[in-house]
Amino acid sequence: MKTMTCQQLGGPCDVVLRGDSADDVIKAQDKHLHEVVASGDATHDEALKAMKGRWKRPLSGMAWYRKAKRDFAALPDD
Ligand SMILES: [Zn+2]
Repeated sequence: MKTMTCQQLGGPCDVVLRGDSADDVIKAQDKHLHEVVASGDATHDEALKAMKGRWKRPLSGMAWYRKAKRDFAALPDD
């Protein structure tokens, strides 16, 4: 298990996300963004829009995805 924060994945807060792979923490971040925006938190609007845009534009989203994977790989295991 490794941990990344919302901030490390382009969000505004320091909520900790845990996962065994970069895909896991990206999925956790996606869920986190949806949850806080649904609860009325406007500070995550931009990050959620950016996350949705990445799925719609796989090519430009790929650079972000690769970076997230690299950052995750560089982290120490818990
Ligand atoms: Zn957050």
